[in-house]
Amino acid sequence: MRLRAMIIGGCLFLFSGCAAPWASRLTLPDRYTLVHDPLEIHSDFHLIAHHRLVDDLISLRTDLSRRLEIPDSQEPIHVYLFENPERFQGFMKLYHPEFPERRAFFVETDVKLSVYAQWGDRVSEDLRHELTHAYLHAIVPNLPLWLDEGLAEFHEVPRRELGLNHAHLCRLKELQEREHWQPDLDRLEKLDPDREMSQDDYAEAWGWTYFLLLGQPEHATLLRGYLHDLQRHATAAPFSIRLRSLTPEPEKALAEFLRELKSTP
Ligand SMILES: [Zn+2]
Repeated sequence: MRLRAMIIGGCLFLFSGCAAPWASRLTLPDRYTLVHDPLEIHSDFHLIAHHRLVDDLISLRTDLSRRLEIPDSQEPIHVYLFENPERFQGFMKLYHPEFPERRAFFVETDVKLSVYAQWGDRVSEDLRHELTHAYLHAIVPNLPLWLDEGLAEFHEVPRRELGLNHAHLCRLKELQEREHWQPDLDRLEKLDPDREMSQDDYAEAWGWTYFLLLGQPEHATLLRGYLHDLQRHATAAPFSIRLRSLTPEPEKALAEFLRELKSTP
């Protein structure tokens, strides 16, 4: 059996040659199952079929496919909704005691995509983040870590924000003003996927993604082409190489873009 686990912020990716040995022993919410293709939402409490949250998560898939020009994923995604933080944390401590506390995570095996989350004030944001990973992983193989997290941070904010993550923008502006921070895409591309990203890494990943999608239209086209190549060939040269062919100094361009962005949290 090959088993590799990566914890990335709120996300856990498991790659396994066969089913994990503990899979049959998990105690998961299973009293109700709401099927809304491709989502199968399992819970121990009743969730109405057109709960605003469910409709929002379905719309997220459409938003992703339109924005990135990728097909809608048809692969089932299992969402396990724990009714409260205590039950969720109990599950985590029992089966993943080595992992830090978190509110949600995404698990990928060779045969199944799953999202685990606790019900609470931030369940919508958590599910939008983790389901962005799930929808993307169903379609695009070998997505680089920075872009995977950047897209998840972009889409975790409510739809009306159009990807503007105020917390990340404020942090990046603070870094620029106080520490003369400069973005560095090469550094992000080299991050070890087995190590947890820092909050500043998340903020920078979001910054690049927002810049690429909502800055110059040529950058968005370049990004879509990159995703298309990954989807078709499962591999592609680092995105920074393509970006530099269009914008020789992308770090400078992002820094300027961020300075001009207004944040109204
Ligand atoms: Zn994530």
